[in-house]
Amino acid sequence: MKKLTAVVMAGVLAAAALTGCGGSSSSSAASEAGSAAGSSAASEAGSTAGSSAAAGSSAAPEAAGSFTTVEDGVLTMATNAYFPPYEYYEGEDVIGIDVEIAQAVADKLGLTLKVEDMEFDSIITAVQGGKADMGLAGMTITEERKKNVSFSDSYATGVQVVIVKEDSEITTPDDLAGGKKIGVQLGTTGDTYASDTPENGGYGEENVEQYSKGADAVMALVQGKVDAVIIDNEPAKSFVESNEGLKILETEYVNEDYAAAVSKENEALLTAINGALGELKADGTIQSILDKYISAN
Ligand code: GLN
Repeated sequence: MKKLTAVVMAGVLAAAALTGCGGSSSSSAASEAGSAAGSSAASEAGSTAGSSAAAGSSAAPEAAGSFTTVEDGVLTMATNAYFPPYEYYEGEDVIGIDVEIAQAVADKLGLTLKVEDMEFDSIITAVQGGKADMGLAGMTITEERKKNVSFSDSYATGVQVVIVKEDSEITTPDDLAGGKKIGVQLGTTGDTYASDTPENGGYGEENVEQYSKGADAVMALVQGKVDAVIIDNEPAKSFVESNEGLKILETEYVNEDYAAAVSKENEALLTAINGALGELKADGTIQSILDKYISAN
C-alpha cells in the first residue's frame, strides 16, 4: 500500500515535471497519510489486554469490557461486495481485504463473522439502524459521514483515480472540466467530489452519471456512455485489468483513509474494534493481508 502510494506520487511528480501542470489533486480533510502501515498499537484506546505475541491467536482478550452486537456472539459486517480487492465474490463467498480484516477482528473479540452484502449507499443506514455492527467497505472517513456514524482508526488508505479509454484526450483531472461525462458509484466519495460545483473542485452534478456498482460505471465507459470514471485506485486497477482498452490517469485525484463505520450508540464496540485493529497492525497481520491482495506494481 505504502509502496503503491509512493509509486502513484512519483507518477504525479513526474507528470507535473514533464507537463509543467500543477497538481490538481486536493487532499482529503481527514488525511492521516501512512496511518495504515506499520503504525504502533501503543496509541490504541482500550487495548488493555496483554495480548499474546503468538501469531494467529484467536483468544478473546475481553479487551474492551462489555460491548453488545446486533446478534449475540456474531460480528455483522455490512459491505458492498463489488469492490475488489477489498470485497468481491468468489463463487458464492465474499472475500477480500476487508473480509479478512473483519475475520481477524472477530477472532480477537471472540465473535463469529457474518457478512451482509448490500448497496454501498445502504451501509451507513444499516449500521445506524442496528442491522449491522460495522460497515467495512473500503469506506472513506468523511466529515459528512461522521455526522451519522463513528469511524474506527484507519486501517488502509485509498486514492481516487480517473479511468479513461486508452486513446482518450483526457490526460489529467483538469481535462474533465467543461462538460465531460463522468461515471461514479452512487454515494461514494468519488460521486461526492465529482458532483460538487466547479468552484469547489468538482465538475457539476449535471455531468455526473451515478451507477449502483463501480463495475457498471466502468461498463458505461467501455460503451462510450461516459468519458471517464472516478473511483478508488485498487478497484480501478482490477477493472482496468478485466476490460480491454482502459487506463488509469497517473495523476491521482484525492487521497483518503479507510475505516470501519460503527454506530454512534455503541462506543464500547468501537473501542473493542480499535483495540483489535491496533493489535493487528502491531503484529503485522493487517499489512500481510494488504500485501496478499495488493501487488506493488
Ligand atoms: N472509498 C469510497 C467511499 O468511501 C468508495 C467505497 C466503495 O465503493 N466501496 O466512498
